[in-house]
Amino acid sequence: MRTVILKINAKKPQISGIRRAASIIRRGNLVAFPTETVYGLGADALNAKAVKKIFVAKGRPADNPLIVHVSDKESVNDLAGDIPQLAEKLISRFWPGPLTIVLKKSKTVPKITTGGLDTVAIRMPKNKIAQALIREAGTPIAAPSANFFGRPSPTLAKHVLDDLDGRISAIIDGGQTRIGIESTVIDLTRKTPMLLRPGRVTLEELQSAIGRVDVHPILKGKKSALVHRSPGMKYKHYSPDAHVILIEGQSALVHKKILKLVQQFGKQGKKVGVITIRGDKYTKNTRRVRTDSEFAANLFKIFRECDSKKIDVILVQGIPRKGIGLGIMNRLSKAARTKIMA
Ligand code: AMP
Ligand code: MG
Repeated sequence: MRTVILKINAKKPQISGIRRAASIIRRGNLVAFPTETVYGLGADALNAKAVKKIFVAKGRPADNPLIVHVSDKESVNDLAGDIPQLAEKLISRFWPGPLTIVLKKSKTVPKITTGGLDTVAIRMPKNKIAQALIREAGTPIAAPSANFFGRPSPTLAKHVLDDLDGRISAIIDGGQTRIGIESTVIDLTRKTPMLLRPGRVTLEELQSAIGRVDVHPILKGKKSALVHRSPGMKYKHYSPDAHVILIEGQSALVHKKILKLVQQFGKQGKKVGVITIRGDKYTKNTRRVRTDSEFAANLFKIFRECDSKKIDVILVQGIPRKGIGLGIMNRLSKAARTKIMA
């Protein structure tokens, strides 16, 4: 299959390109498109055959559910069986935006879309291309991140092409995605809402909007029988080919540890990359970010750049788990083969 690239302006999406992409979706084929978080791989969420193609193209396990993207709040009524008041609160505060809400599913949603679960994850993205595409397609769009299974999520059209060229019908190139890590996921099908995946909409913001929010035990590093509620959590993710080492602790100690590891791996003839927040330039391949937002926006891109430079080891300085830091540390922990407390 030849993968067509459609270049579309993110600020003022050209309707001709959007129409072309929407017709591909309506015909039951796959289009990758930018959202404000990462690039998604979209199919008609209500067409089981089309959704099947997402799992095949990505090499994604069938029990890992997809997020259904909508362009208006009313669509939630068709997709979800029961809409609690808390959902309405979250929707009016955070949509359109990087928050995915898990609700009881209606009969309209095929089981394949929800990985066999009786719940459905729904989000209304803010990105103008994403909104126009969903509107023009006239159907909700199921879309996981548009990477090959296990690889870092794509934040540029080029990343999608690197992973999925020849496996999908089209990619909309709308430039770099702004946030850089996937949406926050909250489960509202329980007595107390539960954070399943941290992201740009922070735990603190959720708590201030709706009060008590439990944090899934796996996010706290604990084993849990609740894993079946969000099967995506059990899979390894976001991994570059390089061996990622996450180093946490007091900054002076982390600094010393990085120096030591750079030396040690250097002696072994290994090519070492470092990612730090406002840190030193330890090696030729050090990427320094200034803020947590910049960290999130560039993390997956840096992982992919390290792979194209054939870097063997990536040393990453941990950050405090607050605000978007919780989401960043969640992605880093999943990507890291080794975790060190300095
Ligand atoms: P991705 O967009 O590739 O990050 O994948 C979507 C993620 O959303 C999955 O890995 C799940 O963790 C989560 N998700 C989607 N649907 C559900 C659901 N019904 N219940 C819980 N989590 C879900
Ligand atoms: Mg993903």
